[in-house]
Amino acid sequence: MQSKLPTIGTSIFTVMSQLAVQHKAINLGQGFPDFPMSETLINCVSDAMHAGGNQYAHTYGLPLLRERLAEKINFLYQTAIDPETEITVTPGGTYAIFTAFSTIIQPGDEVIIFEPAYDSYIPNITFNGGVVVPIALEFPNYSIPWDKVSDAITKKTKAILVNTPHNPTGVVMTKEDLLQLQEIVLTNNLYLISDEVYEHLIYDNKQHETAMKYPDLFARSFVCFSFGKTYHCTGWKLGYCVAPAALMKEYRKVHQFNAFSCDTPKQLGIAEYMNNREAYLTLGTMYQEKRDYLRSLLANTQFKYIPSSGSYFESYRYEALSDESDKVFAERLVKDFGIAVIPMSAFYQNATDHKVIRLCFAKKTETLEAAAACLLKV
Ligand code: PMP
Ligand code: GLN
Repeated sequence: MQSKLPTIGTSIFTVMSQLAVQHKAINLGQGFPDFPMSETLINCVSDAMHAGGNQYAHTYGLPLLRERLAEKINFLYQTAIDPETEITVTPGGTYAIFTAFSTIIQPGDEVIIFEPAYDSYIPNITFNGGVVVPIALEFPNYSIPWDKVSDAITKKTKAILVNTPHNPTGVVMTKEDLLQLQEIVLTNNLYLISDEVYEHLIYDNKQHETAMKYPDLFARSFVCFSFGKTYHCTGWKLGYCVAPAALMKEYRKVHQFNAFSCDTPKQLGIAEYMNNREAYLTLGTMYQEKRDYLRSLLANTQFKYIPSSGSYFESYRYEALSDESDKVFAERLVKDFGIAVIPMSAFYQNATDHKVIRLCFAKKTETLEAAAACLLKV
């Protein structure tokens, strides 16, 4: 068979998690919490199943859940979103993003992304017949070089994808970034796909700048979220997309003949549980403590962090310890030291290697301590 994705191999997350299992290593590679999710939310879902909520949900998402989401967006960002026409529940954030690409990309359209980039974007764009235009974030602070973005625009540019807070670097876009982005999107009639799955995981008193807060920008945006990150249940694979009605109308045409609808009991359970605002309002403090604890455990080592202000991740430079490539170094860490991490070059199409690894700190205290004990031996 002729491959539609001839250059795409196995996701680095799968590779490193498999190696972690094989070598019985501590896994700070793939991003997922290793502490339990809320019992109350589990009970809400279980109650929904026992009450008979087991058949197809509405194709755009359970109406009550969409209403709750619109209320939440209004509460957090003072933006009025119509739950009838502007929100679609999806089987995960990745699917929400893929569907946005499928909705807008015509063969040969160019899509600008920033590298290092979360690993699904490039295959998603390619699969939909688009051409990826990667722009490297400035190393080592991973800021967006806006002048290079303007230079990269051609007649074929259709969209820009941004991700804030950013995986893998933890960089959080500022108001100035959003204003620059808005200017470029509007001037060139582009679409924006805004991956905001880590909206609540923000540290150091920073604020999440959602595209939804900028009405002119939002008019051309698909904003994507994941319940997995917010409620510590990455395995549930449930998310949603928010877009203005005209764009959402087209998005829903793609969605209705792909997933059609999403897991009903989980939508019922989350809709019930969402009344508890504390569950997401406390996430920033909780995860910042974990980030800082890992920093303190590694403070007297040769691993030097590059500050993260959001997401589950912080990246660390290891050049004082080894001149191996990050892939070779990561392989050695898992095989010889019992700790799995992600080599940053995996997030670049051309495997740019700055000798940096990504660590996931969404872990129990004892996991972070055990991980640090391994890293101290390197
Ligand atoms: N975007 C980013 C940046 C992510 O880190 C993730 C988490 N894997 C996703 C999207 C996808 O989320 P989900 O697991 O809900 O598909
Ligand atoms: N988002 C997670 C990460 O960046 C992994 C998701 C996945 O395995 N597809 O590590």
